[in-house]
Amino acid sequence: MNLLPPKTKEAIRALLQAEGETQQQLFQAARQVREEAGMQAVKLRGVIEISNYCQKHCGYCAIRPQNKTLERYRMDADMIFELAKAIRKTGITTVFLQAGQDPKSDALVLEVIPRIRTLGVNVLLNLGEKPQETYRAYAEAGADSYILKYETSDPVLYETIVGSPLENRLRCARWIREAGMKLGTGNIIGLPGQTLDTLAEDLLLAQSLAPDFVSASPFIPNQHTPLENREMGSLSLTLNTIALCRLLFPKALIPAVSALEKIRPGGQTLGLAAGANVLTINFTPKHFRDRYAIYSQERFVVSLGHARSTVAKAGLHLFQADPPKGQAAVS
Ligand code: SF4
Repeated sequence: MNLLPPKTKEAIRALLQAEGETQQQLFQAARQVREEAGMQAVKLRGVIEISNYCQKHCGYCAIRPQNKTLERYRMDADMIFELAKAIRKTGITTVFLQAGQDPKSDALVLEVIPRIRTLGVNVLLNLGEKPQETYRAYAEAGADSYILKYETSDPVLYETIVGSPLENRLRCARWIREAGMKLGTGNIIGLPGQTLDTLAEDLLLAQSLAPDFVSASPFIPNQHTPLENREMGSLSLTLNTIALCRLLFPKALIPAVSALEKIRPGGQTLGLAAGANVLTINFTPKHFRDRYAIYSQERFVVSLGHARSTVAKAGLHLFQADPPKGQAAVS
C-alpha cells in the first residue's frame, strides 16, 4: 500500500471503509510509517482522575451534572501528589491529570503541578474548556501538554450532543497552543448521526490543528445518559481511524484507548497493531475510579501488568526513560 498520507476527503473515506486484505495492508502501512518515524516504542502514561464534577452535558458521558445517581468527588493536592509519586516509582514519566470540566479544581491543579514536576516527570492535563488565562497559568506552573478532543467535526452534531458550540472548543485548542503546551485532540467513532463523510472531515479537522497527540475512541453506550440505548461504535472503523492518524501524523503519540478493550478483549493490542503507540495506566484509587464513569461504569481499567502483556502481544517494546536514582525503569 502507498505510504503517502491520503490528501483528500474521498481518499480518507475510502480507507476508512477498508476491510479484509486491504485493511491489513492499511495497518501494515501504519506500522511502517510508525517505525520510519522512530515512534514504535510504546509510551506509558499514568492517569489520576482528580475530580468527577463537570459543568458540561455531553450526551455520551455519565459524569454530566444531570446524572444525579453519581456520587461526586474532588481529590486534594496531597492525595494527587502521593499518586503521582506512585506513578513515578514505576518508571512512568508522564503524569496525566484528568477531570470533568470543574472550575473548582483549577486552583488545586495550579498548586499541584509544580509539586509533581519536582518528581522529574511531564505533566499532561485533560480538564476541559477554560479561560485563556487559565491555560497560560497551567503552562507557567509547568504543564507540558493538554488534551482537548473535538469529538466530532460536525458543528451541528457537536452542539446537539454536547450542548455548546464546537467553535468554543476549537478556540480553546488554539489557546492551549498559544500558552506553549503541546496539544492532543481526537474524535469519537459511532456517535448517532455520524457518517463516513463526517469521520473523514474529522481527520481533516485534526490536520488543521496539527496535534502532537491524536486519538480515536469508539462510542460506548453509557448508563444514565441520553445515549445509553445506542449501539457501540465499530471496532473496525476505530482501528482504521487509528491507522489513518498514523499515516497523517507519523510522529504523533496515538493511544490505544481502554474503550477498545471494553469492545473486545485484546482490542488494545489491535490498536497497537494499527499504528498506536501509547497506553494509559490508571492510578485512580478504586473508590474514586468507580465514580469516574466517563464512558461506562464498567469501563476497562488498564493496569501495568495488562499494559506490559498488551505491548508484548503486539510484538513491540516499551519506551525507556531514565528513572530517577534508586527507582526502577519500566521493563
Ligand atoms: S465528556 Fe468530559 S466534559 Fe463531557 S460531561 Fe463527561 S467529563 Fe464532562
